[in-house]
Amino acid sequence: MSDKMDAKRRTLIKGIAMIPAAAALGVSSKAFANMLSTDDPQAAALQYTENSTVDGQYCTNCALYTGDDSKGDCTLFPGKKVAGPGWCSAWVAG
Ligand code: SF4
Repeated sequence: MSDKMDAKRRTLIKGIAMIPAAAALGVSSKAFANMLSTDDPQAAALQYTENSTVDGQYCTNCALYTGDDSKGDCTLFPGKKVAGPGWCSAWVAG
């Protein structure tokens, strides 16, 4: 067997070995996959941050937010979750 093939097998085996570890920690790629990134162009344009620095304004008390204290949906970012303690410049009093 070639060295290249051995390297591929080792990488595959390491990847498989990590799956139970991630599951034990409650880590799911889906949990992270749909969180809104501050690098998202629309998020950046609205100065979205995961931790508000504006007194009294958080995603959790924004009229466009539906969710719990940790994360939820925002009508401006369909298909993505925003951070409950987050904020953006489109914040609307709820
Ligand atoms: S519109 Fe409201 S809920 Fe959506 S990201 Fe901005 S502050 Fe958060």
